[in-house]
Amino acid sequence: MKAKNEKPVIVAGGGIGGLAAALALARKGFRSIVLEQASLFGEIGAGIQIAPNAWHALDALGVGGLVKKEAVFIEHLLMFDGVSAEKVIDIPLDARFARRFGNPYAVTHRADIHGSLLDGCKALPELIELRTSARVTGFEQDASKVRVRTEKGDIEGAALVAADGGRSVIRERIVGDPLPPVTGHMCYRAVLNIGEVPKELRLPAATLWAGHNTHIVHYPLRGWKLFNLVATVIGKHTSGGHNELATPQEALPFFAHYCDQVMKLMRTPKEFRRWMLLYRQPVDNWTQGRVALLGDAAHFMLQYMAQGAAMAMEDAVALGVAAEEAGGDFPQAFRAYQDMRIVRASRVQLSANTLVGMIFHVPDGLERLVRNDIYRGRSAERYYDALEWVFSAPEYVRNFDAKRGAVRSPRSNEPRKAASRAPARSTGSRARAALPARRPPSRQRASRGR
Ligand SMILES: Cc1cc2nc3c(=O)[nH]c(=O)nc-3n(C[C@H](O)[C@H](O)[C@H](O)COP(=O)(O)OP(=O)(O)OC[C@H]3O[C@@H](n4cnc5c(N)ncnc54)[C@H](O)[C@@H]3O)c2cc1C
Repeated sequence: MKAKNEKPVIVAGGGIGGLAAALALARKGFRSIVLEQASLFGEIGAGIQIAPNAWHALDALGVGGLVKKEAVFIEHLLMFDGVSAEKVIDIPLDARFARRFGNPYAVTHRADIHGSLLDGCKALPELIELRTSARVTGFEQDASKVRVRTEKGDIEGAALVAADGGRSVIRERIVGDPLPPVTGHMCYRAVLNIGEVPKELRLPAATLWAGHNTHIVHYPLRGWKLFNLVATVIGKHTSGGHNELATPQEALPFFAHYCDQVMKLMRTPKEFRRWMLLYRQPVDNWTQGRVALLGDAAHFMLQYMAQGAAMAMEDAVALGVAAEEAGGDFPQAFRAYQDMRIVRASRVQLSANTLVGMIFHVPDGLERLVRNDIYRGRSAERYYDALEWVFSAPEYVRNFDAKRGAVRSPRSNEPRKAASRAPARSTGSRARAALPARRPPSRQRASRGR
């Protein structure tokens, strides 16, 4: 296929955001070169949640079917009081949910989602060039091109998409804010074999246990073969490191106030990986001429909404749409991309940084009882209404393959109410939603009582 652009778009970073950006551009006929600093394209071994809006983005990128192969289509989003073990929130992810949001909710291994995006890119070699050991260090631009500096020399392109993550070097030039400050938020992660997991916790759900200053999330992975465990705490920032080895002796005391049901699980891993979590406040500009930020580089957020990768993929889809509509005029496309994305992504960023943390992490005394009282007995429809703004994919994601009609007014990203209930583009995932989630053999007999 002949590319629409003579000079390539340079994409800095080959994570979920960068690969998604290259794919979205390719699906609109634009050629790109992805520069990844690591010697291999890959993702860390841990789980990720895929909400309906993320499925719409994956479908737009043409890899939804690949990701579905190993994903587990869970049946509930649950929140338990970590102290009393009371079930406080139960959001059913059944056919009603899939009808409402046009797609189901699933969980998967990060390597499966990243690997599917990588396969999608590799299937389009005439439009996407993938380079490893290619660290971007800066850029220069003029009216007709951008010169991207790497440790191995300069590369000239029509535009630069900075998908180089939360510590983006390119962001420094555009936004000018310093590296994200230490926050005290950190998490302990482990991936277990399903056989190691206490039977009563093998729930077909993304399950969250909430306690003061902490929460614990778990869900099954890889067709119920694996089990993802993430325990988050706000404490003293021990170092700025990612993915460092941590002992149970270090992690467990943070969760000493939790009930035994979940501590049984917490005592299972022989070791954890410790992550120091960073985030940024939203900013009102992600672009500068031929350069645009995308994904965590644009809107680095805490993981509490489980939407960071979803937002990066939605960004990518919007970028593809904007590039097509601007006919390859990238400065114009980037302005339109920012208008499409900045309010929605910032809303998720703010919600993740503050609101949700306040629900999960309330003190163990009266605040905990008030929190439980607020949510106890809430109907599925009330939760669906509250989540509509985030789980309903924007129109430009749902209709990626269709030409857009009238130009949307800048910054009006709210999904249309009627559209959110309209039939989804992807029938595959909706059909899948009607099926029961794959369960571990032991759970087929086990009682759901807790
Ligand atoms: C504990 C935790 C749980 C999460 N759970 C979820 C979830 O359930 N659902 C969800 O949607 N999101 C989740 N997220 C968020 C999600 O992981 C991120 O938002 C997403 O991975 C961001 O992708 P990205 O491509 O923008 O950045 P990154 O994943 O950081 O990728 C950046 C890439 O750029 C490369 N790079 C960096 N600098 C350079 C450079 N100078 N030159 C070249 N390459 C460079 C890096 O090596 C990397 O490959 C979670 C995050 C955490 C920490």
